[in-house]
Amino acid sequence: MARAKKAAVIAVANQKGGVAKTTSVASIGAALAEQGKRVLLVDLDPQASLTFSLGIDPDAVELSVNEVVLGQAEIAESILEVDEHVDVLPSTIELAGAEAQLLTRPGREYVLSSVLDEVRTDYDVIILDCSPSLGVLTLAALTAATGLVIPMQAEMLSHRGVGQLLDTVKDVKRLLNKKLKIIGILPTMYDGRSNHSREVLEDLGTRYKLPVLSPPIPRTVRFAEAPAVGRSVLDTARRSKGAEAYREVTDSILAAL
Ligand code: ADP
Ligand code: MG
Repeated sequence: MARAKKAAVIAVANQKGGVAKTTSVASIGAALAEQGKRVLLVDLDPQASLTFSLGIDPDAVELSVNEVVLGQAEIAESILEVDEHVDVLPSTIELAGAEAQLLTRPGREYVLSSVLDEVRTDYDVIILDCSPSLGVLTLAALTAATGLVIPMQAEMLSHRGVGQLLDTVKDVKRLLNKKLKIIGILPTMYDGRSNHSREVLEDLGTRYKLPVLSPPIPRTVRFAEAPAVGRSVLDTARRSKGAEAYREVTDSILAAL
């Protein structure tokens, strides 16, 4: 009997906050769903902005990624359906405590990889929305992932810390997860009219010797509007430049898997 195919697992990480990790997870998830892919989004941030942006009230969530990583609930019973093709493993503020509890547990870096294994044949792609830190849960995400996307704001200051992230990725590849592949840097909040943004973008790839996903995601107010109604920009502004950019980026990601 042919065995069912396992989902690709994409971590979206950058320990800097506000670089559009969560926006990218929701938008790439929506773009994959448009193609008929079965998608699981995993919220690994105690701030629960992904959960919220998908129209779920984090305060009303009973079972979340918190219980799953602590071994107090099964992943299958904790996953919520967002729409026909998209499910989410939600987060709540309690996840902040789980990080501390995991610190003393053996095998903590493998905790996500092993629970996700239970559902990997149910999906085509699983996307992990990391918190703005290089803590236990981000390490666990990198250990579970087959691919990594690093969103970066297309302006100079936000590049501090990328070296540290890449060092961590190197360690993870060496010690925990040989399969991890850096899919690329995803330039976000790009202002094509500014020379500065354009220069930074050209510099990015060469400086870090990494692929730069294209096209860059333009800065647009549409993104700020979308989560308010629990939908992604792909639904609220279907033909907007931002939505189209995420569709194209999603194709590049699929090609890189
Ligand atoms: P992170 O998860 O990295 O902290 P978010 O995805 O939450 O970042 O984005 C931070 C803020 O920037 C949010 O208010 C979001 O609506 C906004 N944002 C994200 N992408 C864009 C964009 N392309 N243009 C304008 N605002 C954006
Ligand atoms: Mg976020």
